Amino acid sequence: MASGPAGSRRAYVTLVTNSDYALGARALVRSIRLSGTDADVVVLITGVVDVVDMAPLMALGARLVKVDLLPTSDAFNAAHGRARLHGNAPFTKGEKPAFHTPLDNFAKLRLWQLEEYEAVVFIDADALVLKNCDRLFDYPEFSAAPNVYESLSDFHRMNSGVFTARPSVATFERMLSELDAPGAFWRRTDQTFLQHFFPDWHGLPVFDNMLQYVWSNMPALWDWASIGILHFQYEKPWQDPHPKAAELAPLIALWEAFAGDGPVPEIAALPGPEQ
Ligand code: UDP
Ligand code: MN
Repeated sequence: MASGPAGSRRAYVTLVTNSDYALGARALVRSIRLSGTDADVVVLITGVVDVVDMAPLMALGARLVKVDLLPTSDAFNAAHGRARLHGNAPFTKGEKPAFHTPLDNFAKLRLWQLEEYEAVVFIDADALVLKNCDRLFDYPEFSAAPNVYESLSDFHRMNSGVFTARPSVATFERMLSELDAPGAFWRRTDQTFLQHFFPDWHGLPVFDNMLQYVWSNMPALWDWASIGILHFQYEKPWQDPHPKAAELAPLIALWEAFAGDGPVPEIAALPGPEQ
C-alpha cells in the first residue's frame, strides 16, 4: 500500500519502524530534497508508525510505502531479539539507542519488492545527503561503502547504511530463503547478511557513507567538500545527550539544521575536525 504512484524510475529509499526513526527520516528526506534530485523519495513504513509521524514526511513529498516486517521464523526472531543479539555479539565501539530494534533492520530488504523502480539507493534514516548523489543510480547492484571509522582493517567490511540495488521480486525471494536458513545468526543483522549475499560487493568511496566516528577517530580523512552522505551510526543526533555528544557537537548541530525548517549551512565552508 503506497501513498501515491511512483513519479520516477529511480528512488532514494529509507526505512522507518518507529517515531524516533521518523524524526531521522524527516531530516534525511529534507536533505535529499535540498540536494536537487528528480528521483522519488520513498519511506518504507511499518504498521506501528503513527500518522503524526508520517505527516511531516508526506509534507516533504516523500512517497510512503507500508510494509510488514519480514515473515521470519520464531527461531530467527528469537536469535535476533535485542537482548540476545547484544549478549551474543556485544557492541564494543559505540552504543545503540534504546529505540533501536535489531530485527527491524531486516525490513530494508523489502526494497527489492519495489519493482516500479529500475534503480534504488537505500539510505539509513540516521543519515543526511550533503550533495547531489544521483550518480549512484548508475552504479551496479550491489555497491556499498566500507565500514570505516577506526582503522585500515575496517576496509574489509561494508556498511549497509548506504547501498545501490535493482529491485527484483525474484532476488527478494532468494534473499528470504537464505536469510532464514536453519540456525542462521547474522550478528550485525542486514549488514552481515548483505555482505554474505553479495560477496563481490562493489566499493563506493568512503565519502558516500561517511561515518560520524571518523570525525574523532580519523580526522585526517574528513573533508566536508567530498562528503556525499553523512551517517550517524551508533548514537543518534536526536538522542538526549549521549556519551559522545560533546565530541560530535558540530555534526549534531548540522543534523539539527536539517531537522528544522530554517536554512542549512554551506557544507564546504564548515570547519573540519581538530587534528
Ligand atoms: N531502523 C528502524 N527501526 C529500528 C531499527 C532500525 O526504522 O528499530 C531502520 C532505520 O532506517 C535505521 C536503519 O534501520 O537508520 C538501521 O539502523 P541504525 O541506523 O540504527 O543502525 P546503525 O547505523 O547504528 O548500525
Ligand atoms: Mn544507520
